[in-house]
Amino acid sequence: MKATVDRDACISCGLCESVCPDVFKLDDESISTVIQDPVAAENEDCAKEAESGCPTDAIHVEE
Ligand code: SF4
Repeated sequence: MKATVDRDACISCGLCESVCPDVFKLDDESISTVIQDPVAAENEDCAKEAESGCPTDAIHVEE
């Protein structure tokens, strides 16, 4: 699985980092970045949770 973040859409709410800290991390500009590529099998569920929970639909995950 691969996760991507649309930096222009991210509003730095921190939800993704909270629910899936092995995959998403807020960078120096407080914008979410993907730190695990490909997403490890054990993190696929939380990556999907972050995708569905992101308030601006900035996260996309694909198989
Ligand atoms: S959940 Fe969405 S808006 Fe919030 S920090 Fe993550 S990518 Fe940005």
